[in-house]
Amino acid sequence: MSQIEITDVSVTFDQKNRTINAVQDVSLKIETGEVYGIVGLSGAGKSTLVRTINGLQKPTKGTVVVNGVDITKADKKALAASRKKIGFIFQNFNLINNRTIGQNIAFALTAGGYPEKKQPQKIVELLSMVGLQDRQDNYPAQLSGGQKQRVGIARALANDPDILLCDEATSALDLETAEEIITILKDINERLHITIVFITHQLEVAKDLFDRVAVMENGKIVEQTTAYNLFANP
Ligand code: ADP
Ligand code: ADP
Repeated sequence: MSQIEITDVSVTFDQKNRTINAVQDVSLKIETGEVYGIVGLSGAGKSTLVRTINGLQKPTKGTVVVNGVDITKADKKALAASRKKIGFIFQNFNLINNRTIGQNIAFALTAGGYPEKKQPQKIVELLSMVGLQDRQDNYPAQLSGGQKQRVGIARALANDPDILLCDEATSALDLETAEEIITILKDINERLHITIVFITHQLEVAKDLFDRVAVMENGKIVEQTTAYNLFANP
């Protein structure tokens, strides 16, 4: 069984006078340790699809099985347990601006039930993984965009996830900084064997990262291939 199995998933949003088919009959399987890219134009449905993996978005139909648990049928407790093993990285970092970097990480640790006494050491460990161990007393405004995203990565790793969902994680960054973030993610994938699902509208940024890629258009997956094939010249 694959680590993530999305089967015949559709998500529709009912607006006043129309229905938006954000995701339409999508099926895909993602294996443990894989770096899986989902690319497509803005509005293609990438974010909605990826949010079904951690239960942030409930599918209108279909099933989403993560680590053997069908989260579309899971009760609150099972859903919370599944979500704890999934880190999420955002385009705009989503840091708490009036808390220090250390406090931002502590917040995630506490939310995941990590014992308070052991938090200081864990915070240093997490920030060391992204090269920011000497920044824990800084506030987010004192960091560059790339540094903020590195904090976002450290926070996403706080509860030892086995999956990282990255929603346009490099889209707010310049190309050089984006490449730094990709290098860090690749290293995390290789060293910690964490599965990465990375959605982006910036094809060029992620071609060195992906093992496989799905191309989304109008809520549907129109192509599934290796990154090599997607970028090979015809
Ligand atoms: P992408 O991530 O590829 O940019 P999204 O998944 O964000 O695409 O959006 C897919 C479609 O669903 C878009 O038409 C978007 O406007 C719509 N959509 C997304 N979320 C909602 C929502 N909560 N309510 C209504 N429409 C939504
Ligand atoms: P970038 O070149 O990535 O845009 P910046 O010019 O924003 O980066 O920042 C360069 C360096 O200065 C970074 O190491 C950042 O942490 C530091 N820095 C930026 N703004 C502040 C600030 N207000 N207080 C302290 N350090 C800062």
